Amino acid sequence: MSKNVLVFVEAREGGVRKVSLEVLNAARKIAQDGVVIAAIFNPEVDSVEPLAHYGADKVVTVNHPNLAIYTTDAYVQAFSEVVKEFNPDAILMGHTSVGKDMAPRVASRLELGLVSDCTDLGLSENEVFFVRPIYSGKAFQKRKVIDGKIFATIRPNNIPLDFVKTGRSAERIEYQAQVDPPRTHVKEVLRKVTGSIDLNEAKIIVSGGRGVKNAEGFRLLDKFAELFGGAVGASRGACDAGMCDYALQIGQTGKVVTPELYIACGISGAIQHLAGMSNSKIIVAINKDPEAPIFQVADYGIVGDLFEVIPLLMEEIRES
Ligand code: FAD
Repeated sequence: MSKNVLVFVEAREGGVRKVSLEVLNAARKIAQDGVVIAAIFNPEVDSVEPLAHYGADKVVTVNHPNLAIYTTDAYVQAFSEVVKEFNPDAILMGHTSVGKDMAPRVASRLELGLVSDCTDLGLSENEVFFVRPIYSGKAFQKRKVIDGKIFATIRPNNIPLDFVKTGRSAERIEYQAQVDPPRTHVKEVLRKVTGSIDLNEAKIIVSGGRGVKNAEGFRLLDKFAELFGGAVGASRGACDAGMCDYALQIGQTGKVVTPELYIACGISGAIQHLAGMSNSKIIVAINKDPEAPIFQVADYGIVGDLFEVIPLLMEEIRES
């Protein structure tokens, strides 16, 4: 059965976030012959064409001064209005900090259920199913929404990005939403500079733990990651020891990442760290302790001192 699917598209610094394109692909997967509607607030650039290429049939733009900077109140109000107006069968958004903030509130406002943090979705016997990790990533559950609208958030880096086709066009709709002044006034947004690549969207992550010893050790990881355009992450142990910023923390209480390659350097592999990275496609561990639990989840393990192993790997990569 065809489904009309509404996707909330996140923009950052003028551009559409990669996760939103993945969510559009996900929407296309379940819509069949239905319509995929992309909703974007205050777009700075003409976003219709790229969104059409990734699967949108209609692009709804909402322009309002109260949506200039993200605030929970304004975005929840405006998006709830868009949902009511276009009345889709399914609603999807990225499981990002914005998605995690908005989705439960929109669901509660509209009295909908929510399946959060899905790593996959598809159709089985014409019904939509979602896959989501449970028990800190140790198991996966498959869920179906049996009653009412489908509403789900999708974890970044899990739906393969598929350029639907060039030359595809989408209908543009400008929607006038009522957006009250938010109760929270954001005076300024300060971005922490923690590397140019967003950890959530990085294809390669070089991550450091307490074995990296100090902030200087993290400079070595920066150079290593730079060689192949990767981002640098960290264990909480490293963050707690002041070696790097908490924005780099990966794990249960940090970011959940699923890159194609995760290189864990001097990280023991505590369960709370594994919760944030064990779904990475390929895991490489460098640790001087052969008994370190990280080797149980690693596809490739190097037992050795990271300060000797990493320079050797860098030399090899430069020569290749
Ligand atoms: P360690 O466990 O101290 O491991 C350091 C490793 O480095 C060791 O295996 C050692 O063999 C190796 N090593 C040392 N020197 C070298 C060298 N020269 N070369 C190679 N290897 C070397 N942790 C997270 O990471 N993320 C979270 O989100 C998180 N959330 C938590 C939430 C709660 C409620 C709790 C209780 C804990 C949480 N933790 C989290 C902490 C977690 O339990 C571990 O303490 C932490 O992950 C350990 O960090 P580490 O692996 O860097 O340090």
